[in-house]
Amino acid sequence: MSHQVVSPVDESVVATIEELDLAAADAAIEAAAAAQPAWAAVAPADRARLLRRAAEAIDAANEELARLEVRNAGHTITNARWEAGNVRDVLSYYAGAPERHFGRQIPVPGGVDITFLEPLGVVGIIVPWNFPMPIASWGFAPALAAGNAVVLKPAELTPLTAMRIAELCHEAGIPKDVFQVLPGKGSVVGWRFVTHEKVRKVCFTGSTEVGKKIMAGCAEQVKRVTLELGGKSANVVFADADLEEAAASAPGSVFDNAGQDCCARSRLLVEASVYERFLSLLEPAVKSFKVGDPAAESSQMGPLISDEQRRQVASYIGPEAPVAFQGSAPEGKGFWFPPTVLAPIGPGERACQEEIFGPVLSVIPFSDEAEAIAIANDTPYGLSGSIWTRDLGRAFRVARAIETGTLSVNSHSSVRYWTPFGGFKQSGLGRELGPDALEHFSELKNVFIRTGE
Ligand code: NAD
Repeated sequence: MSHQVVSPVDESVVATIEELDLAAADAAIEAAAAAQPAWAAVAPADRARLLRRAAEAIDAANEELARLEVRNAGHTITNARWEAGNVRDVLSYYAGAPERHFGRQIPVPGGVDITFLEPLGVVGIIVPWNFPMPIASWGFAPALAAGNAVVLKPAELTPLTAMRIAELCHEAGIPKDVFQVLPGKGSVVGWRFVTHEKVRKVCFTGSTEVGKKIMAGCAEQVKRVTLELGGKSANVVFADADLEEAAASAPGSVFDNAGQDCCARSRLLVEASVYERFLSLLEPAVKSFKVGDPAAESSQMGPLISDEQRRQVASYIGPEAPVAFQGSAPEGKGFWFPPTVLAPIGPGERACQEEIFGPVLSVIPFSDEAEAIAIANDTPYGLSGSIWTRDLGRAFRVARAIETGTLSVNSHSSVRYWTPFGGFKQSGLGRELGPDALEHFSELKNVFIRTGE
């Protein structure tokens, strides 16, 4: 079945894609399973070399991939270049892994005991539309490094860059059946990763709602699963912080990628004693956030991904919504939505509890450290967050108390390929990236060899 990929910038058709049906998905999984043993048998240094070559090919195609993402997903060109660069970096980081992916020798009586880290077989990776390139690579790079074959399903709305990345990897020498990108529906191709016995692990990034179904489906076969799901992260600003810096950086922490970021700091918690002053610093920062043609170098934010997404975001800004101020957005074609600030708003309101996945920031005043922690933890999510303070002790206390997987102090860093990433509570299960990612793509095997006393 063919599917039209539409640009969110001007609603034009960017490409028409043939989506796989169930039979084609099955054939791809069978081909991956057949190719995987030979891939696992490639000498570690050669597997490393192939991953390094793929990184180089993606680096050489950085501008092409970035321009494609601007058209397909409406990402700003500066972000899209970073995203293609992230794929290169993740590949070259895990290119160092095959030669260092070793087990242990454990002292035991009567023999020698050795552990091996075996590949799982075929790994299915399901990717959402908000960061099509990086999220794909966080799965496929460590999975391939550990000797697995990969079948990857991009989101229906944004398949183009992942398809091009697969071509580049094949040109670099990674066998076609070892890494396949399979465009198709989540309910057909994605779900087949869950039900097909030869897919031994599913790495799912997407909504918490679909993630729960994936987890339940995987339970049927006790299939390994990693889930990277939604978020409602807090940006906590204490009165002793550098308020100018905290206010200047707050818009980027939530409006980047038009707020379609699982790590978006969509709740801004401000100590009551500096609330008015902070809002007066925040307003010009929000109003000067540049929303426009994502291909322009100066743009900081593009459109939302689809008309449906825009309608969903708009549903949080009804007549009763306490809109304090808004930035601006282009009119006419494209799925535009202006940066919007709701303030003050109670932590229990719908806009403070649900992941809006759009450029909407809720500002919540708090009275002291204990209340800030309680509010920060008062959602079903726990993915990311930021703490702004000059008090080192407080920074550590609050960082330890907030139930979330990735925190940053006096900055908004979330995803760094050197360090583990993932969520607490309903934000996910398992971790991606960092030095330990290969363990999540391996089975631990223990072998005892009797030597006699
Ligand atoms: P989604 O759950 O609708 O879809 C995600 C992917 O799952 C898509 O490829 C889709 O086709 C597929 N899918 C849908 N139904 C399926 C099914 N029944 N079986 C198998 N696959 C299925 O999410 P989305 O709207 O594309 O992405 C937005 C969500 O992703 C947000 O909630 C966001 O927070 C989350 N996200 C999380 C992270 C993270 O790392 N925690 C990162 C990015 C996005």
